[in-house]
Amino acid sequence: MAAPRPIYLDYHATTPVDRRVVEAMLPYFTEHFGNPSSTGHIYGWEAEAAVAQARDRVAAAIGARSEEIVFTSGATEANNLAIKGVAEAYLDRGRHIVTVQTEHSAVLAPCRYLERLGFEVTYLPVQADGLLGLANLEAVLRSNTVLVSVMAANNEIGVLHPLADIGALCRDRGILFHTDAAQAIAKIPLDVEAMSVDLLSLTAHKLYGPKGIGALYVRRQVRVAAQLHGGGQESDRRSGTLFVPQIVGLGTAIALGLDEMECEGRRQLALRDRLWQHLQVAGDVTLNGHPTQRLPGNLNVSFAGVDGAALLLGLRPTVAVSSGSACASESQQVSHVLRALGRSPELARATLRFGIGRFVTKEEIERAAAATIDVVQNLRSPSVAVR
Ligand SMILES: *Cc1c(COP(=O)(O)O)cnc(C)c1O
Repeated sequence: MAAPRPIYLDYHATTPVDRRVVEAMLPYFTEHFGNPSSTGHIYGWEAEAAVAQARDRVAAAIGARSEEIVFTSGATEANNLAIKGVAEAYLDRGRHIVTVQTEHSAVLAPCRYLERLGFEVTYLPVQADGLLGLANLEAVLRSNTVLVSVMAANNEIGVLHPLADIGALCRDRGILFHTDAAQAIAKIPLDVEAMSVDLLSLTAHKLYGPKGIGALYVRRQVRVAAQLHGGGQESDRRSGTLFVPQIVGLGTAIALGLDEMECEGRRQLALRDRLWQHLQVAGDVTLNGHPTQRLPGNLNVSFAGVDGAALLLGLRPTVAVSSGSACASESQQVSHVLRALGRSPELARATLRFGIGRFVTKEEIERAAAATIDVVQNLRSPSVAVR
């Protein structure tokens, strides 16, 4: 018999596709395979109608209008279109962009790219709790600032930045406000009007939808210079034949996620709190990020006096977790988010990111907690610690 698979607690990296989402997608691979741009026959119309419904669902989830939604290949592309697209479209306004040190690389890398082209970027530090201080933001805004980009929920430590306050500040100064909501969409309430958001990125594979599809919300009147040129799809903001099954999957995933958001949020919060309670038994464990201003399914903890690599290795048969962001662990680099919180490299390495999601049970949380405590205690016991 094959060994049981480890408990999956890495929902911030990606999620399984909900079977209801797969069911909704399937007909669009085979019977309803038309190109939504082929408006001369029923095949095209069917595809067009499915895309329109998905667009309505995505728009409704954030309080936007359907024509303000641009489908992309995911949040990476949406962030690139938002940041590079605004920078290029508003050259006459200025060349200064503000973002935060703890952003995802899909925001930081386009910013660094723009710096090479002569733009100026301010990377704001965060407070000890991982949140952006409003006064710090206000202090760096200038007359030539064109864009502020601050994520809704952090992918490592789960903290929720004060979007409405940031939005109000930007609106007041006539500065565009972009938020990467890849982790936040259908997890916490989002409203582009109430939060004065001008651009918002999202992706399906963090919310039980398929990989390779996402969207950028672009407020009406706001311009983004296209980064992909071709057939002029998506009102010329993003060319390329629409990936209809994936778009249907995104729409379905968002609708389901919203329906279940409150109830599922409460359930995950209870599991998260249970896990945290358990883990404190190990002693010398620090919670990273604000204790309550965070995603319900996120727990990010550091264990003092433990070798990070050994910790992950010890847990591998039982629990699938990350020690930071996926990219950070591949390159063996210390997470830039934990560094921004002031954690030492050793403590940052001895960090686990637990991502709790839709298919995690109470029993799995109990087992994961027990396994973690076990590994931590073993690594700390003198007989093992001798080198
Ligand atoms: C996953 C993630 C991304 C990248 O999304 P893709 O759809 O995989 O390109 C961007 N930002 C955040 C905060 C994420 O968690």
